[in-house]
Amino acid sequence: MPELPEVEVVARGLRNKVVGLTIDKVSATSEKVVGGSLEKFKKFTQGAKIKSVQRVGKLLIIHLSNKNVILLHLKLTGQLIYVDRFGKGYKGGHSQKAYDTKPPSKYTHITFAFNDRSHLYFNDLRRFGWAKVFRRQDLEERKQEAGKILAGLGPDPMGNEFSLQSFLANVKRRAKSNIYQVLMDQKVVAGLGNIYVNELLWRAKVNPKTKVAKVPKEKILFIGRGIKPILEEAISYGGSSANTFVKIDGSKGKYTDRLAVYQRQKQPCHRKDKGVIARVSIGGRGAFYCPICQKGVK
Ligand SMILES: [Zn+2]
Repeated sequence: MPELPEVEVVARGLRNKVVGLTIDKVSATSEKVVGGSLEKFKKFTQGAKIKSVQRVGKLLIIHLSNKNVILLHLKLTGQLIYVDRFGKGYKGGHSQKAYDTKPPSKYTHITFAFNDRSHLYFNDLRRFGWAKVFRRQDLEERKQEAGKILAGLGPDPMGNEFSLQSFLANVKRRAKSNIYQVLMDQKVVAGLGNIYVNELLWRAKVNPKTKVAKVPKEKILFIGRGIKPILEEAISYGGSSANTFVKIDGSKGKYTDRLAVYQRQKQPCHRKDKGVIARVSIGGRGAFYCPICQKGVK
């Protein structure tokens, strides 16, 4: 799944393409992908101009001129393809080859047609992704489903609401859980996922299976302080393409080569400590660590 840096890269790419365009017509293949009535989705979006594209955690928020918003989650295999009026395509998100046919294809679930004859296609192979419409007021007042979606998201580490002290408190509150799962929890930090949680734990020399209660406070603070820098670094490299992510121009994120542990099992640790990166399953997810420098806290 694309994580915060990858979704940020898509948001920036999308912003460049669609802000200022008016949505002439929308079509969708199922009610599931728009989270409810197709008629409502059309009514909330058609005729509106795209004012801005925002990102919170892994969620994209598209603000419209008619005071409605589209919340869009790429999930595992979502992909956005923008085709300009000259037919030139730009895609971001999942890069699966099966998508490479010209959109709309059998993987296209939502099509936005703009006033300048360009189009935005939302493709999704596994169909976990969605785009839902809400009144902006419901979002701001955290009402109804929009409120529920946002309530599931903790502070975004790139935003002002993220603080080291509340991060420490939120982590410590989950004393009996292992540090890996706590950092993966979107309510603790919105936007972190498998790639960057593994990297952060390697940087802090903390074993992913360590129970929070046994992680020293200084280590938790070290992790907290490291979140924004690693995400900024990843964004500056265009994200990581370890999970087939591609930018809106279809090119790969360059951060993959800089990852220390993620998907580097059986390879030597970058600390040159003779450790070989191991992979363990935690709650069904793959955690990667060096058994030497991330021995765990005794
Ligand atoms: Zn090591």
